[in-house]
Amino acid sequence: MNDLTYIQKKFIDYIEIIMKSNKLSHSYLIELGDSSLDFPFVLLFVKMILCPDSICNINGLNCNKCNICKLIDEGNFPDLEIIEADGMQIKKKQLLSLKEEYQNFSLIGRRRVYIIREADKLNPSSANTILKFLEEPEEGIIAILLTKNRYQVLDTILSRCQILSLVDSTEVSTVDDSIIRFIHYLISGDDLFIHYKEILDSMLPEKTVAKEVFDSIEKIFIQYLSGHENKQFSFLNSCNREHLLSYITIIEEEIPKLMYNINYKLWLDSIFSRFVEVK
Ligand SMILES: [Zn+2]
Repeated sequence: MNDLTYIQKKFIDYIEIIMKSNKLSHSYLIELGDSSLDFPFVLLFVKMILCPDSICNINGLNCNKCNICKLIDEGNFPDLEIIEADGMQIKKKQLLSLKEEYQNFSLIGRRRVYIIREADKLNPSSANTILKFLEEPEEGIIAILLTKNRYQVLDTILSRCQILSLVDSTEVSTVDDSIIRFIHYLISGDDLFIHYKEILDSMLPEKTVAKEVFDSIEKIFIQYLSGHENKQFSFLNSCNREHLLSYITIIEEEIPKLMYNINYKLWLDSIFSRFVEVK
């Protein structure tokens, strides 16, 4: 892996940050360009998750020497299951047997990973089988779903996964100016309270708007961290990547609360205070 593309480097940066900051989520959807070229990067991530030596060797990416890493490369590691479509679909019975198998504790480590290739081939019935598993997995079980196009994956699956990308996408999504301005306030910290009135009046007047705005901000940060070039957001270069990850975590934790009958302004104060504490 010598000549890494820009997007591959960014991907590695990102997974290193995840591991170093201990922010491993329990389900990922990774968008791949060329499956055979990109799959080694998925395995790299898996090795970081499963190899006990990977963290201390993070500069060398992985130890690549220990038995665990060797077995992962050979496809023989018992705590890594890879599910592939059976014909045109991923069938319900494939997922049921995965679930059954992962019900038992691992004999080796504290984590187990399963990969579902071509996650776009999950039909609604097979998807249903793993939704709960994705949402409330047993401790230490990590799902990695792969696809060539996230937009072909069922929404119910997509919304439960953190999205990483190895696709060099040049698509420029244009984002509302007021969202950009809000992001500037957000990453500067104190500006959130200095410009509180403007934010409340014109940017986040009520909770349905707030939900949309924070959803797009989360997407923007994730796209940025996973290496999507977008000139519009080049100002994020000045931002500490771990801070961006913290913002994502805060958004993910706070947004669901909006569904309950909460006092919107108190909620806003509390999420802003959390943002300010990040720096
Ligand atoms: Zn290893």
